[in-house]
Amino acid sequence: MPETTCPLCGVWNREPQNVFYQDEEKVVIRTKYLKGHRERIQVVWKEHVREIPPEARERALRVLEEVGRRVFSYTQQNSSS
Ligand SMILES: [Zn+2]
Repeated sequence: MPETTCPLCGVWNREPQNVFYQDEEKVVIRTKYLKGHRERIQVVWKEHVREIPPEARERALRVLEEVGRRVFSYTQQNSSS
C-alpha cells in the first residue's frame, strides 16, 4: 500500500485525541474500530515499513505493556469489587 493511501500513516496527527503515547519511532493509539471492546489500543510505527525489526518489536511490547496498564486500569477496579 502506498504511503499516501495508508490509513495508519499520520493517524496520530489526524486523531491526537486517541493517542495514548508517542515517541520518535512509534505511537500507541486507540483503534478505529473497538469491535465490542470498551477499549482497544495498537502500536503504529511512524515510518511506513512492512517489517519491524525484533528489537523494535521488543520496545513496542514494553511500551504497550506500560500504556496498557494505565488504559485498562478499569478492569482491575472491576475485579476487586
Ligand atoms: Zn503507512
